[in-house]
Amino acid sequence: MTRKRQTQIEALASKTLMHAQAYQLPVNLPKVAKSLDIDLIGFDFGDEITGCMLRSDDGRVRIGYNDQLPTRTVGRFAIAHSMGHHVLEHFEYMARPEVSANYYTIFGISALDHKSRSEMEQEREANAFAAALLMPADLVLVAIQKCANPADYLRADLLLSVADRCQVSPQLMALRLSTLCALW
Ligand SMILES: [Zn+2]
Repeated sequence: MTRKRQTQIEALASKTLMHAQAYQLPVNLPKVAKSLDIDLIGFDFGDEITGCMLRSDDGRVRIGYNDQLPTRTVGRFAIAHSMGHHVLEHFEYMARPEVSANYYTIFGISALDHKSRSEMEQEREANAFAAALLMPADLVLVAIQKCANPADYLRADLLLSVADRCQVSPQLMALRLSTLCALW
């Protein structure tokens, strides 16, 4: 993804949060869904499927999320990712089921072999949107400042504290800080 596209996606995520009056941590996803006129529906999709975005003929959008996932943070990222497909107008399919490999293209290359380059690009874009939605740059940086003095930035639990503040996994927070060039 180009830096220009990343910037566009960051702006769209911010706009989405502002419009929903949800620009605070942790981001209230049901509130964002309501503002986007999306129905959120919990469902047991089994072990493989994390969620699914569905569009009906009348244009109504529903996001089914797997309510049996092992952690809440995985579920939140899955919902935000599906919202990304919606906001970024990835509308080729009426149903877009998600599997874990879609969130970590670098780990899931073999699983994604059957996907076209444009499909993979869309997964990356949805991930970028989800990261920007759940971890808005300004709010994350303020959260870091609140959690620690600069002298304590190497404290092992700082990442955990900020991730907890956003209700995302520490891995996601680390990736986000790297994307924001906030690590080094
Ligand atoms: Zn996806």
